[in-house]
Amino acid sequence: MTKPVRVRFAPSPTGYPHVGNIRTALFNWLFARHSSGRFVVRIEDTDVTRKVEGALEVILSGLKWLGLDWDEGPGVGGDYGPYFQSQRLSLYREAAERLIRQGNAYCCYCSSQRLKEMREEQARRKQPPGYDRRCRDLSEAERVQKEAKGITPVVRFKTPFEGRTRFNDLIWGEVVFEHGTIDDLVLLKSDGYPTYHLANVVDDHLMEISHVLRAEEWLSSTPRHLLMYQALGFEPPQFAHLPMILGADRAKLSKRHGSVSITEYREQGYLPETMVNFLALLGWSLDDKAEIFSLAELVANFSLERVSRTGAIFNRDKLNWMNGAYIRSLSLDDFTRRTLPFLENGLPAGVRRPLSIDYIGQVMPLIQERARTLAEVPELTAFFFTDELDYEPGLLIVKKMDRESSVQALEAVRQRLSPLQAFDTVSLEAVLRPLAAELELKTGQLFGTLRVAVTGRTVAPPLFETMSVLGKERSLERVGAALDKLRSL
Ligand code: GLU
Repeated sequence: MTKPVRVRFAPSPTGYPHVGNIRTALFNWLFARHSSGRFVVRIEDTDVTRKVEGALEVILSGLKWLGLDWDEGPGVGGDYGPYFQSQRLSLYREAAERLIRQGNAYCCYCSSQRLKEMREEQARRKQPPGYDRRCRDLSEAERVQKEAKGITPVVRFKTPFEGRTRFNDLIWGEVVFEHGTIDDLVLLKSDGYPTYHLANVVDDHLMEISHVLRAEEWLSSTPRHLLMYQALGFEPPQFAHLPMILGADRAKLSKRHGSVSITEYREQGYLPETMVNFLALLGWSLDDKAEIFSLAELVANFSLERVSRTGAIFNRDKLNWMNGAYIRSLSLDDFTRRTLPFLENGLPAGVRRPLSIDYIGQVMPLIQERARTLAEVPELTAFFFTDELDYEPGLLIVKKMDRESSVQALEAVRQRLSPLQAFDTVSLEAVLRPLAAELELKTGQLFGTLRVAVTGRTVAPPLFETMSVLGKERSLERVGAALDKLRSL
């Protein structure tokens, strides 16, 4: 009988979750949901010195933001808790003690000074780094002597000298490691906390994890873990190591490539739908064509067989394109609702708050097609909200025009628009198109000048729609202000 699928995301709260962490969480979640299994979140908080305040909250809120709900773990509990390793210390201690009793582990009394010198010596001799096993075979008398000196030991695993460990990775196929290349790793530190290796193995066993899906960087830890599973008499889970995420230069993705923390993407106005879709394609694909997947489609189609071994390139242009596509697919209401916090924060301080929802509802359709991120919206729309447009007067003079003809054009616009009753796009077009001909200007010239006058920019949403949202009074005031600017040139 095959074991029920139970997978875990096991973050360490030693920093904010980066794209790679979240991709791991997503693949575990998709695998669990696809196979009607359980998705467990376990907090690996045994590295007290590297703990970052607030990181745990950011990790959990990141998962929630993306819609990756967990069946067991912080906040929801479960039958295999506690789900914080710092609350399970006795379990690791028991395992370590058992390994010592069985002769699979030993106490090591070497000082950090001695280990440092040893590493330096190894580096000088160009030998691979690793503990030289001085304490591996201490006699009972030697041990007692060290204890009497009050030295608190660490516990190390007794890695066999000979042989090899092989396993079948679900993504990499058969993987073989010679034991000769594995040193006697620390299981329990002198502060009584376990290392990642011990706690990870004990918990994956006790929590009955069926599949371990984690980043490729852990691949070389797996033979160590397998040796521990064997020594403890535990049946190991299956392993799948997810391919590395690379920047455009094919180096491992890092801060150097721009934002890596998932919270930054949220702040920059990427939609959770985009992030899920985009991250899913970092290493997984359905075929070579399909790009846009809803969460439900991902769940239906996800499989480890379609996870590749080659590093996945994090392509920012693609992310922006995809986010634009998701923004366009939102209903206007939804787009407006999601954009609101960005407008509240991003519009100039002088704009009166609270913002009018009704007015925003008129502005949003004009930019939904163009926005690639929500954070871009305040900048794209600021001129709708503030009447103090700060632009170079020279922008008002478009191609093949001069100051005179620009003044003339805007004067004519003012004259024709002043008596207009209805200020909608149809009426505006009906007046302004013939006016261009009358002035012997190309429509592009007249509309270009007018666009700068009413928006302060050369590129903006459709002109007539913009003017009709601004209304007659504000539009004409802006034309007036533009004329003043031109005359002062
Ligand atoms: N705590 C480890 C991490 O932060 C977990 C690695 C694993 O999944 O075994 O990535």
